[in-house]
Amino acid sequence: MRCPFCHAEDTRVIETRANDEQGTIRRRRECQDCRRRFTTYERHEEPQLYVIKKDGRRELFDRQKLLDGITKACQKRPVSREAIEDAVYEIERALRDALKDEVPSGALGDLVMSRLRTLDAVAYVRFASVYKEFRDLGSFLDEIQRVLERTRLEHVAEGQTSLFHADD
Ligand SMILES: [Zn+2]
Repeated sequence: MRCPFCHAEDTRVIETRANDEQGTIRRRRECQDCRRRFTTYERHEEPQLYVIKKDGRRELFDRQKLLDGITKACQKRPVSREAIEDAVYEIERALRDALKDEVPSGALGDLVMSRLRTLDAVAYVRFASVYKEFRDLGSFLDEIQRVLERTRLEHVAEGQTSLFHADD
């Protein structure tokens, strides 16, 4: 098994775990050359991706949940279903391309927000308000402030005063 980082051939299995529910075997390996660790899976097209919550719990990455969250954030905004699905796909690809099997929830939140920011400013603020607990509060507030400022200007230009719809 080649090391995905330095491509050395000498890697060692340090842990093997079978997941009977999913019918997969997960092997934790260590490169004997660069000492980096990586995970391989058997009988599975794509490795399981875990989100590490702030309290340390691991949760399987849930594409549907992310899709639902972004859809909700984009409610009544001029964002197509296709654009939302593209965003979810890009976020998942970015995670998988990093060749990691775990991602901190904060890093996932950052990825989602940077993608949302290019989609729709209001959707971005809505989503950020849900995810703020995972982020550093200071930078979160700075970010929100910037978007609010920009959105307010845009809405003033459109003759609107409120960020959100009355039924939101
Ligand atoms: Zn290596």
